[in-house]
Amino acid sequence: MLDVFFTVDVEIWCDGWHRIDERFADSFKRYIYGPTAKGNYGLPYTLDVLSDHGLTGVFFVEPLFSRRFGSQPLAEIVGLLREDAQEIQLHLHTEWVDEAIEPLLAHSHSKRQHLHYFSPGNRCGRSRNRPAALWRASWQIFSDRRSWHLKRKVEHAR
Ligand SMILES: [Zn+2]
Repeated sequence: MLDVFFTVDVEIWCDGWHRIDERFADSFKRYIYGPTAKGNYGLPYTLDVLSDHGLTGVFFVEPLFSRRFGSQPLAEIVGLLREDAQEIQLHLHTEWVDEAIEPLLAHSHSKRQHLHYFSPGNRCGRSRNRPAALWRASWQIFSDRRSWHLKRKVEHAR
């Protein structure tokens, strides 16, 4: 028997790094709800299709954006996934590290696209931070479950 994993990266992209505060709300809607002229084809749609077929997916959720825009949008994503009992895993876009309002790591003031740039001794990484510190900080974002009570029905009402 062949095991097949259906995996989805769940992430927000603001079409660049300029004016991200202005662009975030529209980007969030576009990347999570996927509105088109023919309907919404984002995360709720994907969850409905999986549910219709009795399937579970693995959703790699990027949480670092929440250090810029707050925990509510991340809680909304996690709430959707938890309500459907989907598997959630960590997906990091390290470009968000230097966009955090409160520094996520010491010496993280420049944009670094890849995790290995956070390794000590890497010529592109000026930080002493190890990738493990970034993983810990990222999992800590996920561990704040107090705000993950949002229900999908609430989000559909928007
Ligand atoms: Zn990605």
